[in-house]
Amino acid sequence: MNNYQHILLAVDFFEQCDVVIHRAKDLAERYQATLSLVHVVDSLPITDAGYGVDIPFNLDLTAELMENAKIRLIELATKLAVPEECRWLEMGSPKVEIIRIAEENNVDLIIVGSHGRHGLALLLGSTANAVLHHAQCDVLAVRLQDN
Ligand code: AMP
Repeated sequence: MNNYQHILLAVDFFEQCDVVIHRAKDLAERYQATLSLVHVVDSLPITDAGYGVDIPFNLDLTAELMENAKIRLIELATKLAVPEECRWLEMGSPKVEIIRIAEENNVDLIIVGSHGRHGLALLLGSTANAVLHHAQCDVLAVRLQDN
């Protein structure tokens, strides 16, 4: 069995993500693997189908979210010494983007937290669950304590 060579850490910057970050850093060091980071700014459309009301896509808000996320990602990447070519800041559905980045970059281990988000995401099924079911490589879901 080969060692992992490319580990992708999916980071949501929510409470408790440090536990997941430490696990990814530790495994990357043990396996001498490349460590990559992905963060996805969720573009979930907010729609009230019953009344046909869409909350308009707010370009200013989106740009601000991307900018804040970029700063957080750079801070984390600097701390973990992850080079620019191994950082991905995407917009869209977290589960889709995490799996896409993993497949396009020959990732052999994706690391996620067992949970991270609340509210709407829970109704739609968790990112961790979707990644576990659809990724073609190994997935480690780091157990986080329930709040
Ligand atoms: P969730 O299933 O949404 O509760 O989140 C579980 C884990 O999926 C988190 O601990 C992260 O590792 C990953 N994740 C969730 N949302 C995102 C996101 N927007 N960008 C990157 N990773 C995410």
